[in-house]
Amino acid sequence: MDISAPSRGEDLIDFLEDDEASEAESGAGNWKVLVVDDDAEVHQATVFALSEVIVCGRPLELLHAFSASEARTVLAASRDVAVILLDVVMERHDAGLDLVRVIRQELGLSDARIVLRTGQPGYAPELSIIREYDINDYRTKAELTHTRLITTLTAAIRSYEQICALNENRRGLEFLIETGNQIFIPRDVCAFAEVALRHLATLIGGDVGAAFCGPAEWDGVPGEQEELAILAATGSYRKMIGQSIGDLGDTPLRRSLRRGLAGRQHVFDATSGCLYLGRVHGKEAMVHVDLPASASDLTRRVIEVLCVNLRVGFENVVLFERLNFFAYFDPLTRLPNRTRFLDRLDERLPVLARSGWKLGIIDIVRFSELNDALGHRSGDLLLVEVTRRLQARVGPDALVARVAGDAFGVCWLPGEGGVGSILDVFAAPFVVRSHSIPMRARAGFVDVTAVPGGAVELLKRANLALSHAKQEGDQHWRFFSIEMEANTQNRVQLLNELRSALHLGEGLELHYQPQISPLRQQVVGCEALIRWIKPHGQMVSPDVFIPLAEYTGLIVEIGDWVFAEACRQIVRWDRDGLPRFRVGINISAAQFREPDFVAKIAGVIAETGVSPSRLELEITESVAMEDPESVARQLHELKALGLRVAVDDFGCGFSSLGSLNRLPFDRVKIDRAFVRELTPETSQDCIATMIVKLARSLGLEVTAEGVETETQARLLEEMGCKEMQGFLYSRPMNAVALESWIRGKGL
Ligand code: C2E
Ligand code: MG
Ligand code: MG
Repeated sequence: MDISAPSRGEDLIDFLEDDEASEAESGAGNWKVLVVDDDAEVHQATVFALSEVIVCGRPLELLHAFSASEARTVLAASRDVAVILLDVVMERHDAGLDLVRVIRQELGLSDARIVLRTGQPGYAPELSIIREYDINDYRTKAELTHTRLITTLTAAIRSYEQICALNENRRGLEFLIETGNQIFIPRDVCAFAEVALRHLATLIGGDVGAAFCGPAEWDGVPGEQEELAILAATGSYRKMIGQSIGDLGDTPLRRSLRRGLAGRQHVFDATSGCLYLGRVHGKEAMVHVDLPASASDLTRRVIEVLCVNLRVGFENVVLFERLNFFAYFDPLTRLPNRTRFLDRLDERLPVLARSGWKLGIIDIVRFSELNDALGHRSGDLLLVEVTRRLQARVGPDALVARVAGDAFGVCWLPGEGGVGSILDVFAAPFVVRSHSIPMRARAGFVDVTAVPGGAVELLKRANLALSHAKQEGDQHWRFFSIEMEANTQNRVQLLNELRSALHLGEGLELHYQPQISPLRQQVVGCEALIRWIKPHGQMVSPDVFIPLAEYTGLIVEIGDWVFAEACRQIVRWDRDGLPRFRVGINISAAQFREPDFVAKIAGVIAETGVSPSRLELEITESVAMEDPESVARQLHELKALGLRVAVDDFGCGFSSLGSLNRLPFDRVKIDRAFVRELTPETSQDCIATMIVKLARSLGLEVTAEGVETETQARLLEEMGCKEMQGFLYSRPMNAVALESWIRGKGL
């Protein structure tokens, strides 16, 4: 053993002054060095050599173990040992090497640096051990002179420090990836605010003070900048939740938020940061966060990257909320729409059914003519005024909704005048832009009772009564009676005919509508659409018979036939050498309810030999809503088979946009209603744009349906939608016609 006295002036090594030495003893921020040796003298010599040494700005703290087993106990208790100076030969000739294995494998201490020391010069561990167990250095004790020991130790500590920094980096990245997913889950701004603050707290430390500031009151209507308020907060800011920025007084919090808002960017100072999350459809959000002195540079950088994710998350919730608003409310009158009306009615049905409430549909006579004659703006004002009068008439407990362009749904408890008196709201003429306009309405009413089918059925009955009122010119309103349902007899007959068509294998055929990528000038897919041609050649629209088949369950058999036929057709096209495009197949909710649905699909694929990657199942969001867990499971199974899944008719009448990121969809099909309303003036701020943005932020592909004009196609392309389907390119046609269409176009 030759451990000479410390020589001063080593690179990177300082020596402690006396007052610093006492600080070193306290143990805070020390590098822990474990000396493992069965020779007490080695311990003493090491203590002597290393006393008062500072490495990379921090003092050393020596721990001692005199055998491998003792070392194991020490390491299990202090997992932050930076360097282990390890004697190879102790209890046994390879006890040290064995301990290395324990350190790396059993204790899982991969960061600690190991310096092997051995007394016998001739004895060296196999190279494989040095490589395999990540040994920093191997020295004979004779080689480790005093100076050498310190340099070796310094190198080891430096590499330990780097490994720790890398690990911190890695944890930062893992944190970002993990939070990335969670940020997309919330569906309203307040829930999102909570999640954002939770992530910041995880990153910075549990009790950090932070405040999320966002739109105070949300109603989804574009172009209205609301006041900003504290939506969520932690630490000392918690008591400010709900306060608007204006109410915060001249506090550091308010100043910080104002700074973020003024520059529309992150602002950091020594003790805090204001993170600006962006402006989406006029809504802005920011997070103020107190930064503890201990926050490392890396933490700040991770915060900035987290903000990039939070920005996207914020954009998503704003889009979600806006879409939800448009899904449930009429922006003009701010009344609930049909979907929302039905939901609310269903909720209250059990109570209302027992207390004499009525449901009515009130339809304005010749509204579209009025609209054309006076201009749309006046038409809008009329509708707003009708809304006001109706609400005033029925009171705040009643439900009023706009169930169609010119029709209102009302559920209320009529007074003395009876149901018909509600039409009195049309008695006085309407004054619009100084014109006095007399208006009339017709109505159909029904008792609110608990019927199978609930609100939908009641609304259907009210509608039936309304159509009778419309046919019989003398009366302005009719009350539903069971006789009115006689009409449904026709439906029964239609259903019988459909059943025999299916069983005889006659009259049903599939037509295919191409889906185009205008950019690639290519047919990228087609959608299979069923047609029913009756014996005398009359074609019944699927819009008529599919709902009927769904109602009776016949849709399951029809769906089986459609799927198998589409698979067979793909194989025929392949044989004929057509391009290998994808085929979309519509699937009904009832099919998902079949316990062997996935197995049946797999069976048909195996039987026909079709490649599953050619198939894309189209389901509407309402299908996913029925039994989300079971549908999710089946979708995962279908995807495992290699099929793709699209959400059909997206954007209309859905009840949970959340399914978009919870279910494994590949594609969103924008409903044609939103394509129809596209104009160059509105395309920036319309539902189609929002859907495309949302889909892209979730990594989904988008197809627009019902594209009828070049202008629509251009606007859709501009907003980033790459695939189109619609009459502009082609109507649905049978398989043979599609084949010649593709060949004719040379696509
Ligand atoms: P969908 O799945 O949304 O299909 C698109 C519908 O839009 C088709 O109507 C198609 O002909 C029509 N369409 C395509 N381009 C345009 C356009 O540019 N303008 C307009 N105005 N319409 C366009 P179709 O064939 O009458 O089908 C109606 C619905 O019936 C389908 O809507 C789907 O929900 C259902 N359906 C059709 N075939 C099947 C089937 O095999 N199984 C099930 N379960 N449902 C089906
Ligand atoms: Mg479809
Ligand atoms: Mg569709």
